[in-house]
Amino acid sequence: MQLLEERILKDGKVKDGGILKVDSFLNHQMDVSLFGEMAKEFYRLFAGEGINKILTIEASGIGIACITAQAFGCPVIFAKKTKTKNIAGDVYTSKVESFTHGTTYDIIVSKEFLLPDDKVLIIDDFLANGAALEGLISLVNDAGASLIGAGIAIEKAFQPGGEKLRSKGVRIESLAKIKSMEGGKPVFG
Ligand code: 5GP
Repeated sequence: MQLLEERILKDGKVKDGGILKVDSFLNHQMDVSLFGEMAKEFYRLFAGEGINKILTIEASGIGIACITAQAFGCPVIFAKKTKTKNIAGDVYTSKVESFTHGTTYDIIVSKEFLLPDDKVLIIDDFLANGAALEGLISLVNDAGASLIGAGIAIEKAFQPGGEKLRSKGVRIESLAKIKSMEGGKPVFG
């Protein structure tokens, strides 16, 4: 998506360790009209698939997921991150290794909100090693729901998550696919 690629080139900042900072329009301050254009693109890609639920992970996926849910006319569930071992209540749970923070945490979704009849689109801001997406997919599978696919704002294709999950048959649509960030400049492709 050209609009997003242009914005990454204009306002994104490449940090050490293969991290792209997009705090001025996506991860901290949020450009909601850009999100609207991204949502339209996700809708164009996944319309007609009967999607009735969007699933994301807190915190930075929530904004994009909400605007996307408006396009699909369906609710959003965000998986909550928790460090609590004894998780109270009736929840699906999965472990995620954080790429940006170097830690492992549990994510949970209430069984009340993710149902066997659901056709789920997962939305997230970044795809890197694929741990966050794998965790979310595992929640969908545990619920017996159908995974239609994943819509990702920025895929770092020089990390293995996208390839790994596509080879398992997951439909992943990324709006900006970065193949390298060498020399501090994102290259798309
Ligand atoms: P993965 O689990 O695919 O390795 O990483 C996905 C998660 O890590 C995303 O939800 C995002 O929060 C975070 N992440 C991974 N790489 C980056 C990056 O380069 N920049 C930012 N801002 N977040 C990232």
